[in-house]
Amino acid sequence: MSTTSRFLNSRYSALEAYVPGEQPKNRKYIKLNTNESPYPPSPEVISSVTSGSLSDLRLYSDPECTVLKKRIADRYGVLPKNVFLSNGSDDILNFSFAAFGEQGAAYPDITYGFYKVFAELHSVDSKVIPLKDDFSIDASEYYSLGRLIVIANPNAPTGKILPISEIESIAKTNPDNVVLVDEAYIDFGGESALSLVGKYGNVLVARTFSKSRSMAGARLGFAIGSGEIISDLEKIKYSTNPYNINSLTQIAGIAAIDSDSYFFENCKRIIATRKKTTEALEEIGFVVIPSKANFIFAKTDKMSGEELYLKLKDEGILVRHFSSPKISDYNRITIGSEDEMSVFVDTVKKILNI
Ligand SMILES: *Cc1c(COP(=O)(O)O)cnc(C)c1O
Repeated sequence: MSTTSRFLNSRYSALEAYVPGEQPKNRKYIKLNTNESPYPPSPEVISSVTSGSLSDLRLYSDPECTVLKKRIADRYGVLPKNVFLSNGSDDILNFSFAAFGEQGAAYPDITYGFYKVFAELHSVDSKVIPLKDDFSIDASEYYSLGRLIVIANPNAPTGKILPISEIESIAKTNPDNVVLVDEAYIDFGGESALSLVGKYGNVLVARTFSKSRSMAGARLGFAIGSGEIISDLEKIKYSTNPYNINSLTQIAGIAAIDSDSYFFENCKRIIATRKKTTEALEEIGFVVIPSKANFIFAKTDKMSGEELYLKLKDEGILVRHFSSPKISDYNRITIGSEDEMSVFVDTVKKILNI
């Protein structure tokens, strides 16, 4: 990031912005670095945006997203007042740190990098709790903290799942704080915490259309929680940008829910490819963390994580490497199509002379 101007509010001078995965334009890569879907959105989504809807761009989008909100409520068996729609689920995280972080926040040391950024942005004190050596979350460390609790489940970049019985214990022991469960990857495995929302007034579940519904570029996320929590989030939204979900995205989102079976077939394919890729890597000596997400986290003792990342990049394959010491041996590899993953495995073998 560039240096700051002398005009910047000093509270932001030390802020370290989130660094998104690279989107290089210089050559065509097999992109396994940002957990996008290898498959296009459904045909219904593609035909939903018509020239008529483009003409309607002269109008403001519906700030209440009435139709889309109703579709999501029906799809997940809740009422529209329990649904918050957002410009990507990153907005839910942003708004939640702003709205619910007064007593501080707690989240794992190895998790989605944006939590730390939002905490800093909103001056929320963070208790950062180390994962166990096997990268699992020790739920008991989150009991009775009296802070906003943020857990990605499955976690990123590890892909590990925390059983919902453990999330329930966290919710139960922090009754006066929001427990935000970031389920960006839940459609690829694991049990959702949605069933806890009706039971505990403090559980807020965040979801996104970016991963399982192949719509990362549309920027659409949603949260499900108690009516009170949702109206707090609405308050922040209406105090920043009421039209934060554009009308084309609303139309595409409705079509996506209406063609949900298409997306869930794709999730099944990705889960099958995940298994195949995991087995192929294990066969050549990799350690692969058991994943419930659309990516795997893997290392080899034959080469450092960074070197493998760089060599793959030379060969036209992008994966994500994180330099933080605890995980620098690993790479996070998005599950692409069957073909992409067999090219990936062959390339790894070539790099390692196997
Ligand atoms: C990708 C991701 C998100 C954000 O997705 P959006 O594109 O903003 O909806 C949120 N949480 C985790 C853990 C993610 O990996």
